[in-house]
Amino acid sequence: MGLRPNLLTRRTAGVASTTLALLLSTAAVGVVPAASAFSAAPADACAEPADVHSDARVKAGAHAKQEPNELTAKETREREADLAAALRERANFRAGAGAAALAAVTIPVVVHVIQEDGTRAGGNIPDSMINSQISVLNEAYSGGTGGAATAFSFQLQKINRVTNPAWYPIVQGSSAERSMKTSLREGGKNTLNVYLGELSDDLLGWATFPKRRLDSMDGVVVLTESLPGGTATNYNQGDTGTHEVGHWLNLYHTFQGGCRGSGDGVSDTPAEAEPAYQCPTGRDTCTAAGLDPITNFMDYTYDTCMYQFTAGQAERMLTAWNAYRAA
Ligand SMILES: [Zn+2]
Repeated sequence: MGLRPNLLTRRTAGVASTTLALLLSTAAVGVVPAASAFSAAPADACAEPADVHSDARVKAGAHAKQEPNELTAKETREREADLAAALRERANFRAGAGAAALAAVTIPVVVHVIQEDGTRAGGNIPDSMINSQISVLNEAYSGGTGGAATAFSFQLQKINRVTNPAWYPIVQGSSAERSMKTSLREGGKNTLNVYLGELSDDLLGWATFPKRRLDSMDGVVVLTESLPGGTATNYNQGDTGTHEVGHWLNLYHTFQGGCRGSGDGVSDTPAEAEPAYQCPTGRDTCTAAGLDPITNFMDYTYDTCMYQFTAGQAERMLTAWNAYRAA
């Protein structure tokens, strides 16, 4: 999700990065890239960049290296086609089983706390921060912070503490990440696995989109210090978790696709040319109606700035739940 001030530059060397980095800047100017240039970009994951620009004077494109794996137009078309196919599949299944689609969902949550050692600086956060994060999710997804209510609530099932320096930081796209998730992931498609840790590339978090076939990579990775009470200045109210879970529930960024086309696939989030950072006033980057949705959880603004999902996003998440994650 948002940016994070320039911390931990020690981690910038040697980390796996990112053929994905150029996607957003290209998409933002409406250029349709050659598919081959993006073949390495996974369509089922979304990584969030850190804040390398702590002031507002950032030249367009200056943050390209830190940008996430924004999906290409081709990838969103493929994902939308898959959603339609999954919905048809599930409708047939339900008709046979006499089962209705769900309208309210309680999501079991398993939180894996990846620690370097037993110290607070090494990732050993108190349970209270995790409980606060669950409360933040429940507030956000119930509309309690000012947005639309969604179908979702969250119930903490387990806190799993793991001390393993080999998984600290969690390096996005690494074999260590795969090994960690393969070892730790619990539950079925409906179980939200959250991995907390120090993260590579100054990232705040990343998430997988839902897929028809569950695999062990499914889940969200969140910077430990982005939890409520953490040390990630401007990003320590828990909205990284809210944003990443939005992806896990099939939401795109509000700036997906820029000003053109179907954007984020949701009609009530005005089009936005590129991510918004910090908390700009009156930003309006597309000629289509509406100011940029900078207060939406699926933009990149500060935690203090974002407080809502829209009704369209709530509907999109529930549709995807019934297509992909419902039992
Ligand atoms: Zn994101």
